[in-house]
Amino acid sequence: MQLDTFMAGLERRNHSQPEFLQAVREVAEKVIPYINAHPEYEEARVLERLAEPDRVLMFRVTWEDDEGGIHVNRGYRVQQSNAIGPYKGGLRFDPSVNLGILKFLAFEQVFKNSLTTLPMGGGKGGSDFDPKGKSDREVMRFCQAFMTELQRHIGKDTDVPAGDIGVGGREIGYLFGQYKRLRNAFTGAMTGKGAKWGGSLIRPEATGYGSVYFAREMLAHRGEEIAGKRCLVSGSGNVAQFTAEKLLELGATVLTLSDRSGTIHAPDGLTRDDLSAAMDLKNNRRGNLEELADRDGLEFHEGIKPWGIECDAAFPSATQNEIQDVDAKTLLDNGCTVVCEGANMPSSPDAAHRFEQAGIMYGPGKAANAGGVAISGLEMTQNSMRISWSREEVDQRLQSIMQSIHATCVEYGSDGDRVNYVQGANVGGFVKVADALMAYGTM
Ligand code: NDP
Repeated sequence: MQLDTFMAGLERRNHSQPEFLQAVREVAEKVIPYINAHPEYEEARVLERLAEPDRVLMFRVTWEDDEGGIHVNRGYRVQQSNAIGPYKGGLRFDPSVNLGILKFLAFEQVFKNSLTTLPMGGGKGGSDFDPKGKSDREVMRFCQAFMTELQRHIGKDTDVPAGDIGVGGREIGYLFGQYKRLRNAFTGAMTGKGAKWGGSLIRPEATGYGSVYFAREMLAHRGEEIAGKRCLVSGSGNVAQFTAEKLLELGATVLTLSDRSGTIHAPDGLTRDDLSAAMDLKNNRRGNLEELADRDGLEFHEGIKPWGIECDAAFPSATQNEIQDVDAKTLLDNGCTVVCEGANMPSSPDAAHRFEQAGIMYGPGKAANAGGVAISGLEMTQNSMRISWSREEVDQRLQSIMQSIHATCVEYGSDGDRVNYVQGANVGGFVKVADALMAYGTM
């Protein structure tokens, strides 16, 4: 099987979806050599099957603003693969959302969910709706309209959505409330729910905490520790906030947070109070980071990403392709030896290749940020069992899942005394799903 031939076919069918093609190429580069060593996968055309979603749903969402104006948005759900469990993946509400971006996210999700060791397939969905600048009631009406259609296609054993960019606790509440009302059933059909209404403890923290646990594993594998490392964190949403929180707890220095307006830089490190102020600003007041510029010890760099600041470790936790090749070069020139991706596909292909070639500890998103969906999987388990585990128990399970993902990366990605985590995550995630597809025969 040849990468170029495979990609040429994919490009013909998906030429207007650059992010999807980028995500598939990254996987195919690593998986095709493995397939060539195991020809049964090629005969069954397993990679071609995985690159074609089981189903794509696209629907109109009509909602009313506070002045009575009518708006029309587009809603999506990409059900990529349920080979090893119900479709599982978040919903993104952002004006940039289109089918290609959701297909990239759904494709990545299949491999990520496989790595968690839990029985979850892959999916993703969302809308081009922008929650920014909308009142709570407008967001509620949009979520109710969105779920009125989506509810036909999801369910605890079918497809279990969660949050992503623009979909946090508030949106999950409105979405799940509408699901429950229309279906007259309280079931675990969504995760990320509030702890008082079926959610799991540690779910809000899980992606960020998990990303730091993964960095800790990569460092321990090389005999190093995270305490004392100077870290850049991008983003200031769910993933970034809890990445920063766990880094501070483990004795690292957090130099930055960022958002669409720019970067907050704390040359001596963010304090816990700075982080609390950022959380309040983002979660309660929904403002921009520049509003923190007048706090002691903080500088604000308008319109600039964090990557130019000298550091030991980078935790990109905002969005796709936020590290371009030039940023990767700067990070490496400045001595950065750990890149741990809280966001999905935050490194452009050139940047990712540069990190791999440099042999640094480079944890790709599908391994490093799998903690969020892993705890979503545990939320499903708790809902089915009608029990809830303690904070300590869930955190313990999160740590052991991140260790097990690391071990899978080492198993499939070891290269001499180095680990290529991109190779390890892609091949390790692929094998389980591919074997399930083979077991089902041709379908
Ligand atoms: P949030 O909406 O909570 O936060 C997103 C943050 O990233 C915000 O600070 C936002 O800035 C910033 N951001 C978004 N787009 C851009 C952009 N184009 N340029 C600059 N900054 C941007 O989302 P999450 O924290 O949930 O998600 C962040 C990333 O992590 C995404 O890639 C997501 O797919 C991934 N992820 C999330 C998981 C989860 O459990 N939530 C699980 C696994 C991966 P602003 O505040 O200005 O909007």
